Amino acid sequence: MSYMGKQLVKFCTHCVQSNQRVSPSMVTADSRDNVRHTLEIDDGVCDACQVVAKKDSIDWAAREQDLLKLLDRYRDPTKPYDVLIPGSGGKDSVFQAHVLKTKYGMRPLTITWAPHMYTDVGWVNFQAWINKGGFDNLLVTPDGAVHRKLTRLAYENLLHPFQPFVFGQRHQASKLAKRFGIDLIFFGEHHAEYGAPKGEDAFSLIPPKYYTGEVTPQSRISGLTLPELEKEGIGMRDLDIYLPMSEKDYLASGIETHFLGHFLRWDPQEVFYYAQKATGFTPNDRRTEGTYSKYNSIDDKIDGFHYWCAFIKFGVGRCTHEASQEVRHRHITRDEALNLVDLYDGELPERYLPDVLEYMGLTRERFLAIADSFRPEHLWDKRSDGWWLTQRAAGVPKNFGFLA
Ligand SMILES: [Zn+2]
Repeated sequence: MSYMGKQLVKFCTHCVQSNQRVSPSMVTADSRDNVRHTLEIDDGVCDACQVVAKKDSIDWAAREQDLLKLLDRYRDPTKPYDVLIPGSGGKDSVFQAHVLKTKYGMRPLTITWAPHMYTDVGWVNFQAWINKGGFDNLLVTPDGAVHRKLTRLAYENLLHPFQPFVFGQRHQASKLAKRFGIDLIFFGEHHAEYGAPKGEDAFSLIPPKYYTGEVTPQSRISGLTLPELEKEGIGMRDLDIYLPMSEKDYLASGIETHFLGHFLRWDPQEVFYYAQKATGFTPNDRRTEGTYSKYNSIDDKIDGFHYWCAFIKFGVGRCTHEASQEVRHRHITRDEALNLVDLYDGELPERYLPDVLEYMGLTRERFLAIADSFRPEHLWDKRSDGWWLTQRAAGVPKNFGFLA
């Protein structure tokens, strides 16, 4: 019914991720029924594990030299900024901006596409990033009324409340870089490390298809085409802040967008330690619902729902994602990952549920009924005692009960 390319579920034998996990998409094409690229698993081992394993044989000193050459091309003391860093003040953006400024002598402009609702710890970390790190920052906040409506529509049509946010996250950087005359943009961790199509890991340049696009009447946001959104009272002028620059304009602008993780060896745990030291980045005071960690994506009250919805649609949740990353970086074993997934994957993020329901204007009953309508039959079996997830890394079906 939704998103599915592969009906036959396979799990990686090295990490705990499955072939249901979707890869980054061209967001303007997302609809309830479109077929998405999902993680490939060849000979038992997924693409993401293969990409991370290859990092052992990369000559990182040579990669750093490549980085220096790239930075030298863009270093320009006559301009206010050399490089643009999009981020929220989470551990990744702290690392990127800080290391580029202090170790490599670049002058960054940081930009932030505002979370739907800052958590307390997220706001503290955002402030510390800018104030202790010492960066100029632009905080871009879209019209709250429009954003709430798009978020609700994205939940109803795609079970993806985070989707309108992704538009801003992807598309703001190049538009603002152009406006400020900045020709170099860095994102952080390479997306091939969690399952972009094979081959993309060989390059630092991010393919423009991910953050540019032709806007046509068939372009979609929140699963609806532009004319359909017009009927919902959301017009082209409301949507301008979300929409991408055309590929032609982007290429003509001369801007280059790279993954810093191509040049510097990226390890999520090490990046966290770096951010702690650099700007006093603070982890949460408790475990994040749906997983065991305290420091990944903790700035937006809606973050947990992004992962929870993926659990409903693809059968793999936040803990599967994080535990798999830690197996790949050899911080935990696969058996430990299986235990963690068994304990935490799929937990409903109750802590912020009341805020998120109010934000989207949905009752708890309606919220849960929409989620149930997105459970694919090849993953979920409804029995008298609850919803059973039949395809799990552990091999044993598990009852997740009824939430209503
Ligand atoms: Zn794997």
